[in-house]
Amino acid sequence: MKNLLPVLTLFIIACSGADDIVMTVNGPLDPAQLGTTLPHEHFLVDFIGADSTGYHRWNKDTVMAKVLPFLTEAREAGVTTIIECTPAFLGRDPLLLKRLSRQSGVNILTNTGFYGAFQNKALPEEAYTMTADEMAGIWIDEWENGIESSGIRPGFIKIAVPGDSLLSEVHEKLVRAAARTHLSTGLTINAHTGPDAPAFAELAILKEEGVDPSAFVWTHAQGGTPEGHLKMAAEGGWISLDNVMTDNIDQYVSMIANLKDHDLLNRVLISHDAGWYDVINPDSVDYRGHTAIFTHLKQALTAKGFTEDDWKLLTVTNPGEAYMVRVRKAE
Ligand SMILES: [Zn+2]
Repeated sequence: MKNLLPVLTLFIIACSGADDIVMTVNGPLDPAQLGTTLPHEHFLVDFIGADSTGYHRWNKDTVMAKVLPFLTEAREAGVTTIIECTPAFLGRDPLLLKRLSRQSGVNILTNTGFYGAFQNKALPEEAYTMTADEMAGIWIDEWENGIESSGIRPGFIKIAVPGDSLLSEVHEKLVRAAARTHLSTGLTINAHTGPDAPAFAELAILKEEGVDPSAFVWTHAQGGTPEGHLKMAAEGGWISLDNVMTDNIDQYVSMIANLKDHDLLNRVLISHDAGWYDVINPDSVDYRGHTAIFTHLKQALTAKGFTEDDWKLLTVTNPGEAYMVRVRKAE
């Protein structure tokens, strides 16, 4: 019976018109099955740059040995799904993620897209010369046919723009390509951003392209202002407060409480942006675990008057809603 479940899930999904699923590295899932979800974490990152990175740079068994204890710790804290946000050319490894998912029992999502922060070091050279449609074509192909020959499909679009400048030509192109990929696939756009200015510049382009703000995740929104959070959330965008650590809890309580006070808790995503096996310094860089939200933040929010329903919204309902595969066109 157990082996029939994936087949049955696919059948139900096929009958329901293919929408309203979440795509994991092990295939589609009903969003109701995601459970407690961490929407922004990393298991492996390679900062060497797009011109030099590749699967030859790490040994999957060594990475598994390093990551699995942290994944087990997260599962024991109640986590059932992790959205792995490492993009292509920065250490994305779908087959590794599939093995980690199978061995830990945690659902994992991976992504398509290009990363334009980090001084563009993770951007492939051709990103500068191709058109937005050509770029979107690469990402749509990964959705339709899987990433490389892995057969594994992305669960969302991950892009990045620099936080310290206005969008340059290539960064604007990333946003347009993400918009067009969204309209063709229904994949949510997770954009590494930071401050208010680039976040609203991205939003303007998405609207111009006909994408509803609810398809946009403002990643690293903790780099923005409380006013910016309210404005974006009121537009329907997702506010991703994603660098929770044991020593910055008060800052997160205050940002989350601000959104709750304005009835916008239903637009908030919380995560650690933690990990990871660092390919350049595998032994000298500490791996940060994925549990501070459960060991520290929950208690602090409860003391501030947050209820179990609020907690469920933040950790279960919102991530499921944000990462549902569904085309969201602007009205
Ligand atoms: Zn990250």
